[in-house]
Amino acid sequence: MRTPLIAGNWKMYKTSSEAIVLAKAIVKTLSTPDGTQVVICPPFTALAAVGQVVVGSRISLGAQDLHWAKEGAYTGEVSAEMLRDIGCRYVIIGHSERRQYFGETDEGVNKKCRAALASDLTPIVCVGETLAEREAGRAYGIVETQLKGALSGLLPEQVQRLALAYEPVWAIGTGRTATPSQADEMHAHIRKTVAMLVDAEIARSVRILYGGSVKSDNAKELLERSEIDGALVGGASLQADSFAAIAAAAKR
Ligand code: PEP
Repeated sequence: MRTPLIAGNWKMYKTSSEAIVLAKAIVKTLSTPDGTQVVICPPFTALAAVGQVVVGSRISLGAQDLHWAKEGAYTGEVSAEMLRDIGCRYVIIGHSERRQYFGETDEGVNKKCRAALASDLTPIVCVGETLAEREAGRAYGIVETQLKGALSGLLPEQVQRLALAYEPVWAIGTGRTATPSQADEMHAHIRKTVAMLVDAEIARSVRILYGGSVKSDNAKELLERSEIDGALVGGASLQADSFAAIAAAAKR
């Protein structure tokens, strides 16, 4: 049985004071544990403040990226240890916006996963095809290549500790969602790929989230699919009510 995981990616929204208000509303709205794990990922500048708000609640703190080095002359970057030190438990890695705008590569994703795992952070590793790739019939191959790169050289027990997120690029922030069958089928393919690359038992236990315009009104039909273990939520995580409704829809 895989514990459902709902993660909110706040992207580059919310100043620190705005983030505190939102985090407080989420903590209040999601005060009752129901078996679903919930994570919020504010921007770096709000992590410490939001960490103070969520302490002692059922909400965990996550970051949106990290650098793979322990420390060093990497201006503008943040290490796994720095995130861990301010209370992060999760970190999003390889989001398509980082791949698209900041040159994130599969090799970089792999290095970041290793760094996160070494600091006991749970990576949420994003994979997903563009619209052109889907239309060209290349979606499954693209996702497979991204998985191979991300998981390269990781031990089975390390893969078990991370979460994967299938995020078709054409569905992110567009209001266009993959149909539950499209998502379920890709998740099954991801699980098969993990079984092939790593281990069948690990593939059965690793969580695979869906991301791409998940909203309160489509969450249930996605989350009730057997292969979908949770959601990575962008826009709808910026309001406590819609985020809480999505988290509630994940309850098994
Ligand atoms: C995301 O940022 O990972 C995402 C899925 O965004 P949205 O829910 O807004 O499509």
